[in-house]
Amino acid sequence: MISFSGGLYLHIPFCKQACHYCNFHFATSLVYKEKLVKALIKEIEITAKKFSNPELKTIYFGGGSPSLLTLDELALILDKICQQFNVDGVEEVTLEANPDDLTRDYLKGLKALGIQRLSIGIQSFHEEDLKWMNRAHDSHQAMYCVPLAQDIGFDALSIDLIFGYPLLTDEKYIYNLNKVNKWQVPHISAYSLTVEEKTPLSKGIKKGLDKLPDEDAALRQFTMTHEILEDYGYEHYEISNYSKPGMHAIHNSNYWLGVPYIGIGPAAHSYYSGKRRWNIANNQQYIRKIESGEDPSESEIITSQITYDELILTRLRTKWGVNLSDIETIGAKYSAHFREKVQELIRKGIVQKSDENYKLTFKGMLMADHWTAELFY
Ligand code: SF4
Repeated sequence: MISFSGGLYLHIPFCKQACHYCNFHFATSLVYKEKLVKALIKEIEITAKKFSNPELKTIYFGGGSPSLLTLDELALILDKICQQFNVDGVEEVTLEANPDDLTRDYLKGLKALGIQRLSIGIQSFHEEDLKWMNRAHDSHQAMYCVPLAQDIGFDALSIDLIFGYPLLTDEKYIYNLNKVNKWQVPHISAYSLTVEEKTPLSKGIKKGLDKLPDEDAALRQFTMTHEILEDYGYEHYEISNYSKPGMHAIHNSNYWLGVPYIGIGPAAHSYYSGKRRWNIANNQQYIRKIESGEDPSESEIITSQITYDELILTRLRTKWGVNLSDIETIGAKYSAHFREKVQELIRKGIVQKSDENYKLTFKGMLMADHWTAELFY
């Protein structure tokens, strides 16, 4: 039997409505919710049994909208996790939540269940922006949920903000950043709007109903995020993530640091024992496969080239950077390739080197995808 020590991700594939920019896997009908929760519980059991005394370091409810689960449903899932895994060393239990789901009673219930950290999808405090995004919450709920969660005792809060969309002026964005800072929220994820294929936003742009995001505004607002949040004492520890000292997201950081994880639920990905697995991204088919004892996942063996490219892709954009010794363990040809290619990026001020550790400079972060691709094998 193989061992496992790492993270557990649970994908909750339901949302009240489709945000116009979103390409995650979710359904807006809740008719299969009950069956899906049962399937998740069964998949937890089946997966845990593959390992000998599997240990969890982090638990993360993502989606979709995990805050659409009732407290009873969450309790059933958490009970099963505690039965099947060794949870003595769990450092973080996070639930992604939408402002419109966070009532006082629900928050109290989450706290009682042992959820320690909430990642709240606020995105903006401006009513017209939320309407444009087709978010289910309004600006009042965005304003109200954070002080309420803090009042219930949630200190470990993370807030998601989006920038770079056509309606967002710099003044409105500064208001959003100041608002979050006023509450001393310890963690902020700030994402640039990207237009993903097959989303309502991409269709709207093709029909001329929506404008393309302005790249200059997005770069300017990325720079503003960096400067304003660093001034407020946040550390820019990953390209889209900022935290007060010691408050970085453990589960997500572990993805970037190569710690194994198990993904449960439709469309969830796993990484362990040298393989990447991904579950079918269809709720009904996922339920049917789990009910009939079929494996809902496909997998690929992670080759040394994939390992190298992923190390560059994920690690270079974090404060931890990538160490030459990590590359050398993948293979001498990769370290030789990296050493040769990185010189030019150091010369251009894109990558900074300290001893044998390399990471993107702020200038490098402005076009991170482009520069990391230059280093791929
Ligand atoms: S709530 Fe989140 S997962 Fe659901 S549609 Fe909106 S952005 Fe996507």
